[in-house]
Amino acid sequence: MTGQLSPSVFAQAKTASGFRDAILFYLRAHLARTPKGASLRDWWMATALAVRDRIVERLLRTQDAYKRRRVRSLYYLSMEYFPGKLLKSYLASEGLLETAAEALETLGLDLDRLSEEERDMGLGNGGLGRLAWCLMESLATLGYPAIGYGIYYEFGAFRQRFENGHQIEEPDEWRERGDPWTILRPSRSHKVPLYGRLEQGQQTRNSRWVHTKEIIGIGHDLPVPGHRNPTVNFVRLWSSHPPEELDLEAFNQGGYFEAVREKTFCETISKILYPNDKTESGKELRLVQQYFFVSCSLQDILRRFRRLHEEWEVLPDVATIQLNDTHPALAVAELMRLLVDREGVSWEKAWQITTRTFAYTNHTLLPEALEKWSVPLFEKVLPRHLEIIYEINHHFLQEVEKRWPGVVERKRNLSLIEEGSPKMVRMAHLAVLGSFAVNGVSALHSRLLCDRLFRDFHLMFPERFHNKTNGISPRSWLLLANPPLAKVITAAIGDRWVHDLEELRQLEGLLEDPGFQEAFWKAKEQNKKELAKLIGRLCGVRVDEHATVDVQIKRIHEYKRQHLNLLHIVALYRKLLENPDYLPHPVLILFAGKAAPGYEIAKCIIKAIHAVAHKIERDPRVREKLRVVFLPDYGVSLAQKIIPAAEISEQISTAGREASGTGNMKLALNGAVTLGTWDGANIEIAEEVGQENLFLFGLRAERIAELIQEGYSPWDVYGKNPPLREALDWLTLSPDFLPGEPADRLVPLRETLLEKGDPFFVMADFDAYAQTREEAFRVYVDRKSWITKSLLHVARIGKFSSDRTVQEYVQHIWRLRPVSLSALRT
Ligand SMILES: *Cc1c(COP(=O)(O)O)cnc(C)c1O
Repeated sequence: MTGQLSPSVFAQAKTASGFRDAILFYLRAHLARTPKGASLRDWWMATALAVRDRIVERLLRTQDAYKRRRVRSLYYLSMEYFPGKLLKSYLASEGLLETAAEALETLGLDLDRLSEEERDMGLGNGGLGRLAWCLMESLATLGYPAIGYGIYYEFGAFRQRFENGHQIEEPDEWRERGDPWTILRPSRSHKVPLYGRLEQGQQTRNSRWVHTKEIIGIGHDLPVPGHRNPTVNFVRLWSSHPPEELDLEAFNQGGYFEAVREKTFCETISKILYPNDKTESGKELRLVQQYFFVSCSLQDILRRFRRLHEEWEVLPDVATIQLNDTHPALAVAELMRLLVDREGVSWEKAWQITTRTFAYTNHTLLPEALEKWSVPLFEKVLPRHLEIIYEINHHFLQEVEKRWPGVVERKRNLSLIEEGSPKMVRMAHLAVLGSFAVNGVSALHSRLLCDRLFRDFHLMFPERFHNKTNGISPRSWLLLANPPLAKVITAAIGDRWVHDLEELRQLEGLLEDPGFQEAFWKAKEQNKKELAKLIGRLCGVRVDEHATVDVQIKRIHEYKRQHLNLLHIVALYRKLLENPDYLPHPVLILFAGKAAPGYEIAKCIIKAIHAVAHKIERDPRVREKLRVVFLPDYGVSLAQKIIPAAEISEQISTAGREASGTGNMKLALNGAVTLGTWDGANIEIAEEVGQENLFLFGLRAERIAELIQEGYSPWDVYGKNPPLREALDWLTLSPDFLPGEPADRLVPLRETLLEKGDPFFVMADFDAYAQTREEAFRVYVDRKSWITKSLLHVARIGKFSSDRTVQEYVQHIWRLRPVSLSALRT
């Protein structure tokens, strides 16, 4: 025993019987249950606590080493994290998967069943949150010092159900069964001011922010264990609370309702994750939420800095703060406020420190998703920050004037404030101006950032711009998601791929090996069988487990073009009615994904997919050949079940609109062949895997930009393409798909494709898509060709490991050194 760092008795147990003792201990001591009375949930919780015990031990050692060595660290600010279920992931990181399974078996329990008791942490919406978690996982696995910051939402995005084909949203009470993973840190709490007004000082830059409302943020630390190494980092998530004194004061004066109202307001801030991916809404609360999160996180970073360092100028040398999209961009103004108002640093020095500390990742070019806040709202909620932003802008526009004297347009383009009524604060501009590095998330996206969205910023600060192509964790998306394939691969080439995904290249040597091909195919078949069972459980339909599995699983969005997929399904349906042998092999088309609650067209697309799926299901003429299924409540866990079984990966976004995509990488890693446009990371996947091994189609970004200039009319396409016209008319004008419902249900879908000009070029790409997809269906029958394509997707996907992504950030932006804790390995 070594005093403070002595591990608990159970954290040392390495055998199945030792682990079993730990589970039984937690069952009794923490859950007050005997094995006889314990429910599955109790067993899950006890097992979780048993593994947490060990993780905490590593966490303490890691953090102690970081502190002693005063390491340079990354701080990652993200409004979302999407870890999925953690039990198996944490067990695997400790190398305890088998031990735990064995221990549970002696108790008559099954680890897989047990881990189904866990609810996915509801802290993310989609790709952005998932990326944040993959990066955190890779950072820990590579041994780099990093802390993530986020919000401890009480409710996740929403739970999705379907009623008569409509999306029904239900609260996602993900913590209902308890949260064994996070560690409450009441000592890590910060006061966040809001509203109030300014008292003018001598100059605008030193006015005082007074009569503010105060909110308390309390930290909850979610450990992030590295895979099979001693490192454990953490993500600190803030929950919002009323200041202590508030209740009593109002309460004592008899103001019970007032007190409760105040309390409710304070607690609302961390109540829900905004279920909006890409589109922005919920104005005031969302702004308050962002500021709350940013202020707690920065105060925390500065507090930690202060314990070890004297001079504020050193901050950029020991910390980089990465902004995951524009949601935390307020951090630029908040750091200025903390340094100038609270720490008495001069404006010039504070600006230098700030712009050497932040880096910003952009995730989208979609104009509606670039955050802007109206000046009046901003002034009401954060008057001091508005003043700071004006001051920053004033200095900046002087610089712009020096660079381009008299060019008003440049100033208008670059300004942090957009003219108009009301004026708007452009958060993306604040993020670019306040950061020393700005990056996009795929080669194409980064190029478009420089050429289009941030063109003038790029002219002014070319050295600031980077590309960091996204990646995915090989642990989450192969080792844990797809044990059958992971085993086949490990048997063939060993298990070094888990830490170095480029190792998969060795599989190319087995391309012609019949034994390996067979094992590879068998793994896919096994996963397809499991998926068929899952579909039975979730949707109550029986599907052919041998059908080609074609999947489009992602948020429902017009730019992702689920409606392109759907239109082709309707066209195929017509062809099958004419010629029952039109398809060479049965096809199962899967959809999964949520639509933002306020996004009407997305919801209409969901409705239309269900209508088509339902009609085909009841049509004995085609249902043995073509099936369509929409799986509810897409999330990380569901993705981990669908992806191993997938054979065709639909990545069909309008070129130039999908910043990167990561679903495309996960599916390729699991042997699904890409059917996609020349967009986002699809391009780099094609370059790695070899274009001839993908099914690529459609207009490219340059051509689409030209068409927008020249004027594009979907009516022309509609007039010239009878199969498309017939499919669209049948779906949206006939009563066949929605018998007994109002005839205009799907009219919004028709309108966006025709009257509203088809902004996502669905009509323009239809023909190319139909041909290419049907070619894929034909190639599938040639098993040898198919296995080659599929295998090459796996063998050549190594670049898309989030380990590589992290290494690039480390080299060019974060400048971290791995901290070796090997001496501490026990
Ligand atoms: C990977 C992932 C996404 C992102 O998918 P894209 O196809 O890149 O849009 C969204 N949601 C979940 C749950 C994921 O795992």
